[in-house]
Amino acid sequence: MRLLATALALLALAAAGCGTGSSDAPRAPQVAGAAADPGTTAYDAALSEPRQDSVYPLVGHAGVDALHYTLDLTWNARAQQLTATETLLFRAATTADQVRLDLARQLTVGRVWLDGRSVPFEHPGKDLVVEAPVRTDSRHVLQLTYSGLPEPVVAPTDRADFSTSGWTIARDGTVWTMQEPYGAYSWYAVNDQPSDKAFYDVTIHAPKGEVGIANGRLRSRTSSSTGTVTSWQLPEPAASYLVTIAIGRFTRTVDTGPHGLPISYWTPTDKPALLRRVRYAPQAVSYLEGLVGRYPFPSLGVLVVPAISAMETQSMVTLGDSQYTLTRDVIVHEIAHQWYGDTVTPDDWSDLWMNEGMATYLAEGNWTSDHGRKSLNQILGRWASFADAMRAQYGPPADYDPDTFGEGNAYYIPALMWDTIRQRLGDDAFWRLATRWLQTHRFTSQDRDSLAAWWSQQSGQDLTPVFTAWLTGPHEPTWHPG
Ligand SMILES: [Zn+2]
Repeated sequence: MRLLATALALLALAAAGCGTGSSDAPRAPQVAGAAADPGTTAYDAALSEPRQDSVYPLVGHAGVDALHYTLDLTWNARAQQLTATETLLFRAATTADQVRLDLARQLTVGRVWLDGRSVPFEHPGKDLVVEAPVRTDSRHVLQLTYSGLPEPVVAPTDRADFSTSGWTIARDGTVWTMQEPYGAYSWYAVNDQPSDKAFYDVTIHAPKGEVGIANGRLRSRTSSSTGTVTSWQLPEPAASYLVTIAIGRFTRTVDTGPHGLPISYWTPTDKPALLRRVRYAPQAVSYLEGLVGRYPFPSLGVLVVPAISAMETQSMVTLGDSQYTLTRDVIVHEIAHQWYGDTVTPDDWSDLWMNEGMATYLAEGNWTSDHGRKSLNQILGRWASFADAMRAQYGPPADYDPDTFGEGNAYYIPALMWDTIRQRLGDDAFWRLATRWLQTHRFTSQDRDSLAAWWSQQSGQDLTPVFTAWLTGPHEPTWHPG
């Protein structure tokens, strides 16, 4: 996500329902292919060790290792009602009597099946609790039907550009989502914590004249007198906060990036002028490839929605249509996250800095100095001038107040840290390791201990004290111009 520029200047569950699996229950939904086969190994790249988040422990469930979500979503725009069928292929990460997922109380669950059998469940507050015993490492297919009037959830931040996250309905009726650090559970049943990546297949039934957009590749699109059906496939595992969806009147424009990378732009049909502004994507990818290696996914999309924030949703970047969020440096920032944030993802929200520090260093630091009038030293010098105050106000980057998610401390301070490490290792070694870190940890979630150990081992220097001082220390280390 991109920090709003003005933030710099400021510096300064109720019971919902339950059900039982009665003997006259309807059959479980039919899903084609491996996504409903608990014996498949097709999604083993999504195997992970889910954890309880240290910053937001009430969201996410360490007992579930989601491998693949199949979401079939029907949007009734007039009633603002979502009706859905979900199939979740998962590994039980622990032996338990219940399977728990996050799902907003605004969504009423109809039926739940585990491995084809109707099972009882409860849905108190935001947790869906399925009464079905599972054993560690056993694999299952959980299916459910649900419907309701989705609402966004309150975001744990006082940032000016987002106060809620998840399913959002704009004034013109367009549906969009940005859902960091959580909020995916406002529209599907999910393990909504970033240690648990999964594959996705999403089908969206949109009203007539509208179209549904999700991450990854558009596999099919059909229109009829009743509406438009699109099917999307995300071919690499993603954390739930990197999932996007939009439903509205959008026009698709295709483009080609470096070495034939397919790029698609989804811009509001009534705002054709916006297309020109987002068409910087190919140059952004080229620039970033020069620093941190080949673009990591088989396609890139840029989706423009009625919002004032921007989000690095995986291989389908979501940009608000504000003046600021359509600037080139924001576009570069969100695309930079495709490497730092999406390819390798923090497994705990205390490590948000892993995303924002490097994206800021790449985009607002290096790209800006290479394309503007200020040198890297001038840019970083300005950041260094207020880093102290940010640490004092919001805490160290990796030990922040949970109510101040995504403030400047998670962006500028770790960017200064990376520059300090670059100066110590030299340009060649630094960028080589910054690239190799991604390649050797592709599509996984990592923490700062593994990162610090890896950089130390690879560089032959003990960098742990550097990471510790910048990320969790009480005092701002001194940044020196390089
Ligand atoms: Zn960001």
